[in-house]
Amino acid sequence: MSDISEKITSLRSELPEGVRLVAVSKFHPVEAIREAYDAGQRYFGESRVQELLEKIPHLPSDISWHFIGHLQTNKVRQIIGKTAMIESVDSERLLSLIDAESAKAGVVTRVLLQVHVAKEETKFGFLPEEMLDYFRERKFEKLTSTHICGVMGMASNTDDMVRVRADFAEIASLFRTISTEIAPDLRGFDQISMGMSHDWPVAVEEGATIVRIGSLIFGERNYNIK
Ligand SMILES: *Cc1c(COP(=O)(O)O)cnc(C)c1O
Repeated sequence: MSDISEKITSLRSELPEGVRLVAVSKFHPVEAIREAYDAGQRYFGESRVQELLEKIPHLPSDISWHFIGHLQTNKVRQIIGKTAMIESVDSERLLSLIDAESAKAGVVTRVLLQVHVAKEETKFGFLPEEMLDYFRERKFEKLTSTHICGVMGMASNTDDMVRVRADFAEIASLFRTISTEIAPDLRGFDQISMGMSHDWPVAVEEGATIVRIGSLIFGERNYNIK
């Protein structure tokens, strides 16, 4: 067994039932993705539009691609219809655009709204209050071709696991406030995507339903691949 397939197999055995593994393959070549695929992996995460579009034709069509990077508005049209889910919707403007382009293309796009809880200034996402307001004002009712499936978030980039756990707890709590108090009628809002290579066990303990794991599976990223 290759290293990649061993990692996939052992992660699978450790993840509780009902938690989906997205293998984050950004900056890794199609051969590496193929190895994971051969080990049974079907959900892959990419963070750049160009890289995703270049990889798709070289890989089996039953792969579910999760887009997890900051999506520039001028690239939305290119990936509509190509993804199983866009996890990183970080503004209302982007959401409206995804909806408009999906309507034009005659498809429904599944998305997660990205929330910013980490204590870093560079991270994208809705602030918690902004996200709550979005649902309080029931703006989602205007969407015709987008299905909001839940929330996505990242913890602060730190070794302090107390801090990391608090961030994940905040993301999960935000999700529950929306799904049980603010918009309990919102159908199919049931996913919490959080947890990466170094912090996924904590994320799972705090309620993740999707984990996004890259370097633990594929090793260090090669930033030289185009
Ligand atoms: C790169 C990336 C990951 C995976 O990170 P690893 O530390 O390699 O597991 C997860 N989520 C997002 C949003 C990413 O950009």
